[in-house]
Amino acid sequence: MDLTRLSPRTPRGPIDNRPRAGQHGPATDGSPTSRVTMDIAFLHGRIILEDRILEDGAVVVQQGAIAWIGPTLELRARPEPAVDLGGFYLSPGFIDLHLHGGGGVDSMVGDPEALKTLCRTHEAFGTTALCLATLSAPIDEIHRALTAIQQLAVQGTGGARLLGAYLEGPFINPARCGPHPTEHILEPDLRTLQSFALAAGGWLRVVSLAPEMPDAEQLIHWVAHEMQLLAAVGHTSATCEQTEAALQSGCRLITHLFNNMMPFHHRDPNAAGAALASREACAELILDPNHLHPAAARIALRCLGPDRIVLITDATSVVGAPEGTGLLGKRRVIYQDGVAQFEDGHLAGSALTMIDAVRAFIAQVGVEPAVAVRCASLVPARLLGIADRLGSIAVGKHADLLVLDPDDMRVLYTYVGGARVYKSSY
Ligand SMILES: [Zn+2]
Repeated sequence: MDLTRLSPRTPRGPIDNRPRAGQHGPATDGSPTSRVTMDIAFLHGRIILEDRILEDGAVVVQQGAIAWIGPTLELRARPEPAVDLGGFYLSPGFIDLHLHGGGGVDSMVGDPEALKTLCRTHEAFGTTALCLATLSAPIDEIHRALTAIQQLAVQGTGGARLLGAYLEGPFINPARCGPHPTEHILEPDLRTLQSFALAAGGWLRVVSLAPEMPDAEQLIHWVAHEMQLLAAVGHTSATCEQTEAALQSGCRLITHLFNNMMPFHHRDPNAAGAALASREACAELILDPNHLHPAAARIALRCLGPDRIVLITDATSVVGAPEGTGLLGKRRVIYQDGVAQFEDGHLAGSALTMIDAVRAFIAQVGVEPAVAVRCASLVPARLLGIADRLGSIAVGKHADLLVLDPDDMRVLYTYVGGARVYKSSY
């Protein structure tokens, strides 16, 4: 097996259109900036910056990147075209680290064209970049799914940036499988994991596994240290000590904290307790009423702080699907009354969107809008090692931006690389 082209120095998932030394594949992220030079200015907005909100601010975009930020009054020449925000928020675009579907398409479909529909469906909900999560399945199906993700990531979606793949399963604990079909769950095996990395052609970004399974530590070491990818603890029955050992070995992320793991108990804190007590780990939250009580999210926020909470959707194909039904892997999912479930009534991922997660964080958990936005943009960008280009409104970064109504946080416009990819009809 030739793993040389997956060496850590190989850039993974190039997300801008500047060629780099040693880069394989086309130097493009497929965003509109790859083909069109986008210049635009935003005036009179409430600009959500990394550390504050700039009132009556302006942002100037040149060639798809943020070129200037300041008070609108200090703009000498009014650039054209310009959008008068009229006091609405200008927010960084959201980065959904972990989702499975949208627009009726499941991430395991193995077809780049269909995956494009999936990715672009989420633009309406504020997502400008995303990682597609896989589901436990026969090995060759996972290979096909990863290859399709790689193909679309290289080719580009024409809108929301596909950043790569999030391997969720098959190396998980069958006792905590959630929607993963137990017959396809495997004991951790390095050769198999390496075959997944090869199928993803350098676009594998996150590997989530159960650290208590045999040989899991070897895989964590390979992912975190040899590949320098993001290793995560998830779908696990790990004890507190096993989780702490996994964090010590290189895991930096907890997959959907509290869901599909043993709960916190004061004598037996388990994975949830180890995560809350950790000084460095980040944790994903699925912030909808089916997955998490707002108080649990508040506890996580108090323990970890806003720089270690990642809002994800874990969305399935029912999001933005016209029929309200879809697939998760091979199983049919029905969307009813805000719940995505299998026909037997079990939860099947979520029907959450990024803007709804942000809204819930503000309304139910009680955080400031800028904090909610940070947990949906800058924190995932940092985890993925791309915060130099994405994740906040800062000079030099890609102009992946949202115009939000401050009253209800509704998404009015979505921009990727300065090009508008979504406009609300309201
Ligand atoms: Zn998932």
